[in-house]
Amino acid sequence: MEAVLLNSGGIDTLASIVAMKEADSELVLHSLTVWIGQKNFGPAHRAAQEIAGKHCVTTDLMLLGDFAFKENGAFKIPYRMVLFHMAAAIKARHYGVEYIISGIDDGFSENFGRKVTDMLTEESRAPYAPVVICPVRKLSRGERIFLAKKDPLFPITVSCEEAEPCCVCQKCLDRRAAGIA
Ligand SMILES: [Zn+2]
Repeated sequence: MEAVLLNSGGIDTLASIVAMKEADSELVLHSLTVWIGQKNFGPAHRAAQEIAGKHCVTTDLMLLGDFAFKENGAFKIPYRMVLFHMAAAIKARHYGVEYIISGIDDGFSENFGRKVTDMLTEESRAPYAPVVICPVRKLSRGERIFLAKKDPLFPITVSCEEAEPCCVCQKCLDRRAAGIA
C-alpha cells in the first residue's frame, strides 16, 4: 500500500505507523504535516520531521494559515479534521496514491473517512477519491502507547497542544504514565 500520512509528530501518528507497518511490511508513506494555528507547532513539526525521516519517502509541510482563536476563554480550531483531510487528499492526488492514513482521531467517527471520500468524489467527479484509514481509532490510549513504544522514536513525539508541555492535560498525563516527559 502507498499512502499519505497525516503526521502530527505525536503518539497517535507513531502508533498508526507501527500498526500499518505490522499489517503491511511493503507500506510506502508520504508524510504531510499541516499547520493551521496549533500552538505546539515548532516542537511538533520537529518531531514530525524525525518521524518522516525514518518512515516516509517524501515529506511535506502545508502552512494553511492561522485558524486558531479563543472562544469562551478556550483555544479553538474548529473543523480542523476536515481541513487536515482535505490537505491530505490534495497531496494524495499529487502523489497518485489511493489512501490517507490519519492518526488524528479527534472527533473521528466511524463514518468520517467515508464522508470525506464521498465529498471528494462528488467535487472531482473522479471514479475514486482517496480512502481515509484511521488505524488507531478503536484503540484505547494505553493500546496506542503500547504500539508507539515499539518504535525508538517514541520519546521524541510531541503530544501536548500547548506551546510547552502543560503537564496537566490528559496527553501530558499519559506521557508521564508511559515514562516520558
Ligand atoms: Zn499538556
